[in-house]
Amino acid sequence: MNKISGVFDLDMSIQYLKGVGPAKSILFNNMNIHTVKDLLEHFPRSYEDRTKLKNINEFIDQEYVLFIGRVTSVIKTQKVRKNLSIHTTFVADDTGICMLNWFNQNYLKNKINVSNEYLFYGKVTYEYGRYVVDNPQIYDLKDLHKVRGIYPIYTLTNGITQNYIFKLISTIYQNNFLFEELFSDEFRKKYDLYEIDRAVKNIHFPENFGIIEYARKRLIFQELFLLQLALLIIKNNCLSVTKVSKYTNTNIEDFLSILPFKLTNAQDKVMNEIMSDLLSDKNMNRLVQGDVGSGKTIIAALAMYVVVKNGYQASMMAPTTILANQHYLELKKYFDVFNVRTAIITSSTTKKQKEDINLKLRNHEIDIIFGTHSLIEDNIEFANLGMVVTDEQHRFGVEQRVKLNNKGKSVEVLIMTATPIPRTLALMLYADLDLSIIDELPPGRKLIKTYAVDKSYEHRINEFIKKQISEGRQAYVVCPLVEENEELNMQSVIELANRYKENEFKDLKVEFLHGKMKNKEKDAIMTKFKEGEINILVSTTVIEVGVNVPNATIMIIENADRFGLAALHQLRGRVGRGQHQSYCILKSNNKSTQALERLKIMEKSNSGFEIAEKDLELRGPGDFFGIRQHGLPEFKLANLLKDVNILKMAGQASKELIANDKNLEKIENKKIREELFNKFGEQLRNIGT
Ligand code: ADP
Ligand code: MG
Repeated sequence: MNKISGVFDLDMSIQYLKGVGPAKSILFNNMNIHTVKDLLEHFPRSYEDRTKLKNINEFIDQEYVLFIGRVTSVIKTQKVRKNLSIHTTFVADDTGICMLNWFNQNYLKNKINVSNEYLFYGKVTYEYGRYVVDNPQIYDLKDLHKVRGIYPIYTLTNGITQNYIFKLISTIYQNNFLFEELFSDEFRKKYDLYEIDRAVKNIHFPENFGIIEYARKRLIFQELFLLQLALLIIKNNCLSVTKVSKYTNTNIEDFLSILPFKLTNAQDKVMNEIMSDLLSDKNMNRLVQGDVGSGKTIIAALAMYVVVKNGYQASMMAPTTILANQHYLELKKYFDVFNVRTAIITSSTTKKQKEDINLKLRNHEIDIIFGTHSLIEDNIEFANLGMVVTDEQHRFGVEQRVKLNNKGKSVEVLIMTATPIPRTLALMLYADLDLSIIDELPPGRKLIKTYAVDKSYEHRINEFIKKQISEGRQAYVVCPLVEENEELNMQSVIELANRYKENEFKDLKVEFLHGKMKNKEKDAIMTKFKEGEINILVSTTVIEVGVNVPNATIMIIENADRFGLAALHQLRGRVGRGQHQSYCILKSNNKSTQALERLKIMEKSNSGFEIAEKDLELRGPGDFFGIRQHGLPEFKLANLLKDVNILKMAGQASKELIANDKNLEKIENKKIREELFNKFGEQLRNIGT
């Protein structure tokens, strides 16, 4: 959507648009509107129906109406307070009477004459047996044809009114300009899409309500199509390097035989998917999604085992040192049995140890290296890297994956995440990955009992914690994040822990954990907690992901309303990992219905996927989990919940296009290619162009 012919250059700064200027342009900039094009792409969030003229006896409470009325009484003014005057009059048509109120608009007195007819627009309420319209807009009857129509409602900011945006966009439309059409007639026909100009014009000034859907369809299609196309190109060109690895020995029975459990069906299924990736002629790029506790770690271990058995090295990265250590300790005991040589690098590894490990990696004297994602950045070289596993790293971008690929000749990439993403959204966000889902928990897990409570339960909860601890269990208490401020987070954790130590739980062992502690200290605390030497661990969300202490059965979350549901679900997943009944208590004093409704969802559901769907419904996809975190743009119109059909169609279309023209080199795809680079140049720069 770029070139123009005529007066407006779509890329012109909004400041130079007639009626804008420097001051207003700052307001627009705050709304992320910088150019004329941005303004035209500031699509209405809804519409007002002013197409129908209503008789007064057809009014419905709370409805917006356009009507003609004759003024039947002089305006009466009441001065309610110093700054508040109310002007009241009555109007009538052949069917009824309606009362009109205006607040403070003193000039109106001279605008309206008794027994004249005017056109009014406003919201009706029905009270005390009559219709009332507050602050109606007034027009001369002769303007009826101008006033009637469908009015766009825009998202605003202080200093920018509906009318102002409406007029600006109308002015632009009085001039001659063109959005550039990306799609051929044939393509548009195939997917039943409007021309781009017709779509943009009708999204702002729809001729009728039916047209809005067509306009939206075209614009949403384009948004989703381009995004999926970009992801597909990335997948084809930079992630599927020609495979050189060969796997001749894919037997994992020996490893399975030493596990204290049998894989679940879902784990089996995912293992098969991974195995067929390994045996295919393309490198693996797989995302394994599985709810907390579904047993992803062992899947990673098995995959790495195959790779190592065939003479390659593997690395497993985790987002925190705590988690990296946990994986290392848990999996080392299995790998030792088969003489698979493991090591770990964290920030507490000394320089000397690091050098030693590095040397061993280069000489292939280590088979599997564990660590945080600094493993990618660090100057670590491998003799023969064959697989990289990344655990719980939902912010793992395309670029990082490219970096990883460059660490070996042909690297299999496996990403594990418990961030529950509704399937449609996942397909969208990870179009460049293959998706496996572990949709089953190991048998015998008891559902975690969840209760949302307010302050009045404090004492009872504390007694409950004591009782559980006296039975040998352990508890987590999580303090809410205070913005991104680690300093404050640390303070609230330390304060609460100290209070517990001195008062509520003075006979118990209470310790704390927060993000500002040195890794060594954190590890020491986690180890003590694991070994049962700590009864209550007060923590920030540093324990959010992955931590596995099966003996912990209580998770208390302070000010739970401040967390997103996905985060609450993750935190809750720290308990319910052993054979004992576990409990999650969500404390909150927030009385708003939305807050309560969200916590109720947590009480009712133990399924991460279900919670994610509900959260998405309640909050809308914009807030859902910061799509931007994934390095993807926010959508202007698309609603991934409602627009699934368009999403599917756009996905199909992008696949077909790529199948016929892998690098968009054909002449008929030139414009699509240009637009793609305009939008995603940054992310696409790694492709050979
Ligand atoms: P997550 O998917 O959250 O990363 P983990 O891999 O940490 O889950 O597994 C949670 C717990 O379940 C671990 O203690 C693990 O040993 C155990 N586990 C994994 N798979 C099975 C299984 N098939 N049967 C029983 N327990 C299992
Ligand atoms: Mg895990």
